[in-house]
Amino acid sequence: MKIVIMGGGVIGVTTAWYLQREGHEVTVIERNEACGLETSFQNGALLAPGHSQAWASPGAFKTLIKSLFQDDPALRFRPSVDPRFLAWNLKFLANCTAPRYRANTLRILRVMMRGVDKLRELREEADIAYDANDDGILYLFRRQHSLDTYGSSWTLLAEHGLELEQVDRDRCAEIEPALGATRDKIAGGFFSPNDGAGDALIFTQNMAQRLIEKGAEFRYGATIRSLKASGGRVEVVVTDKGEVKGDVYVMALGPEAPAIGRTIGLSLPIWPIKGYTVSVPIGDHKGVPRTGIIEEDNLVAFAHLGDRLRVGGKAEFAGYDKTYKDKDFRGVFKVARDLFPDGADYDKPEYYACLRPVTPDGPPILGRSRHDNLFLNVGHGAAGWTEACSCAEAVADIVLGRTPEMDMEGLELSRYG
Ligand SMILES: Cc1cc2nc3c(=O)[nH]c(=O)nc-3n(C[C@H](O)[C@H](O)[C@H](O)COP(=O)(O)OP(=O)(O)OC[C@H]3O[C@@H](n4cnc5c(N)ncnc54)[C@H](O)[C@@H]3O)c2cc1C
Repeated sequence: MKIVIMGGGVIGVTTAWYLQREGHEVTVIERNEACGLETSFQNGALLAPGHSQAWASPGAFKTLIKSLFQDDPALRFRPSVDPRFLAWNLKFLANCTAPRYRANTLRILRVMMRGVDKLRELREEADIAYDANDDGILYLFRRQHSLDTYGSSWTLLAEHGLELEQVDRDRCAEIEPALGATRDKIAGGFFSPNDGAGDALIFTQNMAQRLIEKGAEFRYGATIRSLKASGGRVEVVVTDKGEVKGDVYVMALGPEAPAIGRTIGLSLPIWPIKGYTVSVPIGDHKGVPRTGIIEEDNLVAFAHLGDRLRVGGKAEFAGYDKTYKDKDFRGVFKVARDLFPDGADYDKPEYYACLRPVTPDGPPILGRSRHDNLFLNVGHGAAGWTEACSCAEAVADIVLGRTPEMDMEGLELSRYG
């Protein structure tokens, strides 16, 4: 079969891998001159099943409203009159009940846990390096009140298969010696030893290289303008460099998926939520954390990647705007300097901002669309690096007419009715 993959981010290349290894002819269409240069470029880098909690939660509405009146909140809600934004928000709010939050969280957990296992399998199979860090993640709370309020959401994850240790401040410093001098600033938290980190860009580009070596075609610098469909089937992908035809098409366009879907009347409930990350060189600094860290009170994430520390945070409703200013990183640096004063060379930042492709309930949208030969691997939100391999394997199985090993309940487009 000739399979056309739309999008060369981490989701597109992993999907291409699972299809190519079954002997199919794979073409990846990517508008940039290389893979992984958009959302997968400089994300938080954490492989974090310990952060599977759905964003649509019983407390979310209050948090969104509060953010309208805060100076530099971790989550910034900006209202818009765009009807698609309003429709997405209504769906989001409908998912903020306790039972839906629980169901969505467990779906995300299922996809993320399998994602980490599959990634570690794949790195052996494909012999891929990506500054892998398997040292686990510490989820830290600064205030006892936050730990008491939100701790039960980690208990839920532990009850459903995630290996998790509740830790006090001394145990935190034992697990992560870089917290030795600042332990008094922490109330406690949770340690997930199987979580990890790695550079999604290096992984994506190395995967693309492996695929090319095995005969895959990459059409770089080709921007998809639309799809043409008839009789319930996609016939061709129209790009600014000509048409690309296949037997089967997989959409892996990250935040851009809704725009291309609309060209054939396919409505995908995905909204871009902006985040900010910065990479700083570690140099001779001795106080760098080795484990992944998420500081939960301000939602700031730390990942040790080879010779650099990645620090990221914030969730902002800003439409498709990806610009950033120095001041957008103030909050992130404040937490970094406070917890890890000798962590890295904070004066040499490489800034980045990108868009999470977020569904209103949280899990990605995988598998069948409303066209027989168009399949979806989209909407991975804040977890696409962790979820990439489980989703790619499952979508490849569906494309090939097999039943995926991963339970697909609540992961398909049909869940939106
Ligand atoms: C700030 C931030 C921090 C994050 N941290 C983490 C984390 O710690 N752990 C984690 O698991 N996940 C994290 N994520 C989420 C993760 O990065 C994403 O879910 C994931 O990268 C999405 O991958 P993708 O391949 O779907 O999208 P992308 O990487 O955006 O890939 C889509 C590709 O499609 C191409 N494309 C789009 N439109 C067209 C077109 N018209 N024609 C041709 N090509 C097109 C783009 O150029 C792009 O290369 C984070 C996200 C953000 C924003």
